Amino acid sequence: GAVIGILGGGQLGRMLSVAASRLGFTCHIYEPGAEPPAGHVAHRLTTASYEDEAALRAFAGSVDVITYEFENIPASALDFLETLKPIRPGRKALRVSQDRLAEKAFLRGIGLQTAAFAAVDDEIDLAEAIDEIGTPAILKTRRFGYDGKGQARIMAPADAEAALAALAGAPAVLEGFVEFSHEVSVIAARGLDGETACFDPGQNVHRDGILHTTTIPAQLSASQRTDAVLLAAKVLNTLNYVGVMGVELFVTPGGLIVNEIAPRVHNSGHWTQDGCLIDQFEQHIRAVAGWPLGDGRRHSDIEMLNLIGDDVAQVPALAKDSDVAIHLYGKAEAKPGRKMGHVNRRLGPAT
Ligand code: ATP
Ligand code: MG
Ligand code: MG
Repeated sequence: GAVIGILGGGQLGRMLSVAASRLGFTCHIYEPGAEPPAGHVAHRLTTASYEDEAALRAFAGSVDVITYEFENIPASALDFLETLKPIRPGRKALRVSQDRLAEKAFLRGIGLQTAAFAAVDDEIDLAEAIDEIGTPAILKTRRFGYDGKGQARIMAPADAEAALAALAGAPAVLEGFVEFSHEVSVIAARGLDGETACFDPGQNVHRDGILHTTTIPAQLSASQRTDAVLLAAKVLNTLNYVGVMGVELFVTPGGLIVNEIAPRVHNSGHWTQDGCLIDQFEQHIRAVAGWPLGDGRRHSDIEMLNLIGDDVAQVPALAKDSDVAIHLYGKAEAKPGRKMGHVNRRLGPAT
């Protein structure tokens, strides 16, 4: 059978591997980090670095298609791999989503709303950006940020110096603070044939910059729901995208504002495992393998709760709850801020 190569062996790679196995594929995970969560379920694991050309060549030689579970794969590795095997989603989506500045420029370029933004490389840029955008604002590193890391809030111009220091000179963007009523995300998929399918938008609550819960259905009017799905489809079609993407949105009285896009399966899509016949992981594997997309309609309303750090101690109690499905990532140590697993609580039949 076909072999799917996955760059990255975290929990997303783990859940992709499980879905791929269920469809009869074999998975080869490439993950330099120690004790990768996906290591337990992958059929084959390469732990070499992304600089190791021989290991990359062997990996590419062993797979039919390459996908990834995180967007910060070194460009040099991708440059090499793409000469050997198809990478899905393609490079354009990665280029755009690896850099918040390129991402916002892309989104604006296709007519979508984003926060006000300006590039910031030094204190002069920052002073100008604050003049232009005002405060409150958020300074974010252009690259490598996740779970709210690499961000500093600027409540007043006097906070500028501390914010720059917090980012330690990394190239950054200043974003105007969006006064949103709530946050939602669309988990969208596009097949090799260009067909698109979206899961119903979920409503997201963050705690300390980390996703805490996703609840389905989200509070959205019928027209907001249509807007959300259409804008997601526009992003995927413009990028000629193949696979699943997470599109994070702020809901405001002036419409939906795109916060960021993630060219992969997304934490806010984990509810689909227990709310839909076909979940985001199977949908992604179907897309990258060239299968038809599955039907992502939900059968149940769900609340997904992330188990962060010591939250994992709640598992024995949660396991007694007949409305709860437990998903653990097999991580040994429950460090603060570390995603250990999640649970999906059935709220009832789909409303
Ligand atoms: P992720 O883990 O989702 O990749 P991240 O580190 O890339 O997170 P963002 O999604 O940019 O971070 O921001 C994290 C959260 O901070 C957002 O979900 C939102 O709650 C808040 N936030 C970010 N940017 C803004 C903004 N411009 N205005 C208001 N709130 C914001
Ligand atoms: Mg992000
Ligand atoms: Mg985010």
